[in-house]
Amino acid sequence: MAKSFMFIKILHFFNNHKSNFINTFQLSETIPLINFSSTNIDLKIMFPYTESLRSKNMGTVLITGGAGFIGSHLSDRFLKEGWDVIVLDNLLTGSSNNISHLIGKEKFKFIKYDVTDYLFFKENIDLILHFACPASPFDYAQHPIHTMKVDSLGTLNTLGLAKNKKARYLFASTSEIYGSPEQHPQKEDYWGNVNPVGPRSVYDEAKRFSEAMCMAYFREHNIDIRIARIFNTYGTRMRLLDGRVIPTFIHQALKNQSITIFGDGSQTRSFCFVDDMVEGLYNFATKDGLNGEVVNLGNTEEHSIKFLAEEIIKLTDSSSDIINHDLPEDDPPVRQPDILKANRLLGYSPEISLSDGLKKIIPWFKERKDG
Ligand code: UDP
Repeated sequence: MAKSFMFIKILHFFNNHKSNFINTFQLSETIPLINFSSTNIDLKIMFPYTESLRSKNMGTVLITGGAGFIGSHLSDRFLKEGWDVIVLDNLLTGSSNNISHLIGKEKFKFIKYDVTDYLFFKENIDLILHFACPASPFDYAQHPIHTMKVDSLGTLNTLGLAKNKKARYLFASTSEIYGSPEQHPQKEDYWGNVNPVGPRSVYDEAKRFSEAMCMAYFREHNIDIRIARIFNTYGTRMRLLDGRVIPTFIHQALKNQSITIFGDGSQTRSFCFVDDMVEGLYNFATKDGLNGEVVNLGNTEEHSIKFLAEEIIKLTDSSSDIINHDLPEDDPPVRQPDILKANRLLGYSPEISLSDGLKKIIPWFKERKDG
């Protein structure tokens, strides 16, 4: 009697937690030890994820930070290519406006969640893109601790998920890992020059830590990881007041306010149009045989910030004047990606010039200038 009561209790517990059990079982690393050879069990039904192990060129992609600027453009691209897309975002710096056109689509799912908390998914996941992170100097100065958490705990959680799901993993790293570069342009084998305790260190060092963590998972667990070092990128869906130079200057120019150049404006950046960035990221994430690779992505067209201000004033037909503010601490004086490796591995070659890209996005900012 006691035994059958116990059995019913166990059965009841199993039924209540069936999905968890199945999921845990699917994730178990002991699976290869189970001998099914003498059974008639259909492995495809028991372990549907094994199907997805064959290729990472299609399936389900999880995009953390998928409601952010680059993340939302990536979501569009993966959906267009036929993937199922799950966006995870806590909307700290991302916005539901960036993905509102995707809500309700059959292959799209949005989960408002903080990636620094424990992650659990029942679904098969074939590819993880870890893009969650405040990304402008203004944002990471506002949220220094969260910035460090999302690229330490968040990276750890997503790498653990990649391990469990046997998913490919692409980490959104940054040109900031080169710090104030002594090598110009910056190649992937340059180790950088980062101030570990300066105001930008919360971002730079967290990204560097994440890269090291990715390589640890690659070396110890053989996870198929890829590290994309993303250089300055611009496009629609940047927040008007996120502090980054292009939305700030366009916004100021459209309102005929003074353009605020930090320092004398002789510092340089190389700006990449978002479509060119997404093209590189998509190819890097979906091409086979690139595990463990670190690749710069960006446009090599380099300009001074003063030139950028003048170009934006011209293209917006603005009456703004230019004023100079103090240069922020550790603001890199130059930045330009060496993209030979991306070109060799991915055929990567950005097509859109700064001037053409600015012309494409100014109308989008105009529509929102009073919002
Ligand atoms: N910058 C500027 N005025 C602004 C915002 C930025 O002169 O209102 C400068 C900033 O000091 C830096 C460059 O523009 O030298 C690019 O800044 P951004 O914040 O876009 O990105 P970063 O490349 O520094 O991460």
